[in-house]
Amino acid sequence: MLQIRLCLRKAGRLTAASRIVKHLQAWLRAFLPQASAQGMTRWPLPEPMQRALAQARLAAEAGEVPVGAVVVHKGEIIASAHNAPRETCDPTAHAEVLAIRDAAAALGRERLTDCELWVTLEPCAMCAGAIAHARIARLYYAASDPKGGAVEQGAKVFEQDQCLHRPEIYAGLGAEPASELLRDFFRQRR
Ligand SMILES: [Zn+2]
Repeated sequence: MLQIRLCLRKAGRLTAASRIVKHLQAWLRAFLPQASAQGMTRWPLPEPMQRALAQARLAAEAGEVPVGAVVVHKGEIIASAHNAPRETCDPTAHAEVLAIRDAAAALGRERLTDCELWVTLEPCAMCAGAIAHARIARLYYAASDPKGGAVEQGAKVFEQDQCLHRPEIYAGLGAEPASELLRDFFRQRR
């Protein structure tokens, strides 16, 4: 009898818990613009990654490989850029390099020790080198790049003994829209 009562009490608690979860889901659907129809909640991307993606879109419109980057200093975006080697006839004009140059100029110093770099694609070896030289504190990148990436694959620049500086690395935020932009771009070129 006691067992039955315990079971009933547990069942009651479960029902109450599931009611609370349902309320929470409804609340999230009502207040979060990106909550999907299936009730799966997708949190909005952080502002810097949204801005980097906007830059990547600008690159695609200009016929450049859609990669965008922004530099954040004390919570404020101080530089943003997109890939522009064609437009500038400069093979080193990758989004990260351009954004780092602008940020350093804006701050009036060559070291960006208190800055974050947000970029839509895993940096290549050149950009990883620039990030190390700039002493960027944190690197956020969206999509992995199995072909040209040099952070978690390929050269793994920051893991080499010769690397002067290794930023904190956060990968994957915004990977889906960033990859989609790249896929669309290359599909249209074929
Ligand atoms: Zn690069």
